[in-house]
Amino acid sequence: MPNNNCAIIVHGGAGDIPDQQVADHVDGCRLAAAAGWRILQDGGSAIDAMEAAIQMLEDLPVFDAGRGSYLTTDGIVEMDAIVMDGATLQMGATAGVQHVRHPITLARRIMERAPHNMLISAGAENFARECGLELCAAEWFETPYTRAVWQEYGRLPMLTGTVGCVARDATGALVAGTSTGGSDHKLPGRVGDVPLVGSGAYADNRSAAASATGDGDKIMRVVLSKTVCDLAGGGLPAAAAAKAAIATLAERTGGTAGIIIIDRSGRTGFAHNTRRMSRAWIDADGTLQAGIEPAAGST
Ligand code: ASP
Repeated sequence: MPNNNCAIIVHGGAGDIPDQQVADHVDGCRLAAAAGWRILQDGGSAIDAMEAAIQMLEDLPVFDAGRGSYLTTDGIVEMDAIVMDGATLQMGATAGVQHVRHPITLARRIMERAPHNMLISAGAENFARECGLELCAAEWFETPYTRAVWQEYGRLPMLTGTVGCVARDATGALVAGTSTGGSDHKLPGRVGDVPLVGSGAYADNRSAAASATGDGDKIMRVVLSKTVCDLAGGGLPAAAAAKAAIATLAERTGGTAGIIIIDRSGRTGFAHNTRRMSRAWIDADGTLQAGIEPAAGST
């Protein structure tokens, strides 16, 4: 019998995920949710579960995070990530890192060990080195697909595949994390919503925890993750809060995005106004569920 306090939900991005990537997206989300869930069921913390799930997604080349991150107009990766702890409201974030294999782990180390909440670029990489984190050559992050998207800019579909996870452990503690390579063909130095607290993620044990994905330049204007947590904290069920937050984004900015949430009672929810959003989740009944509809092949 699963521990009823625990819940986990992950996403693999919201956007026009093409038919040929649908299966890999859903499989990746399932694997990540299951990995995090095992940690939670063994009595592990929400932060360990979230980190394990996102590390797995960062390593899968189908997602725009870690290996598989989109390239900037200069043809290099610049990755952003955030972690937030709902018990303490502590957070760690990083932006513009080019060689850190797991930006989510760097965000966690920043939260736990740095005297600041956010480190970027070379300073962040130096900190990662001091923490003993794994650094990789630039080529490690590149895939034939991301190079083709870069070379054929405008001729291949604009995709998304930012990854995120929200977890609730046996103590009821909530944690959220998000990791991304950012938008395809972004300008060097561009920072999106992901590392901005309240935009790419937010967590507060008193209300909810959430992770966002989609048009970051619009998401940050409505502080989407904090917005959905406030709606849930005000009493809306998780699924309704997610829907209302996405409606606010659409109404106020015209943007498209997806959001996942676990509220303080452990209820999971998600919403998106993109064609697809890949996600997987396990809540009180212990059943792994996943979705990305419409299914591949449907119009
Ligand atoms: N929100 C991310 C960004 O703007 C991209 C995404 O989620 O697909 O950097």
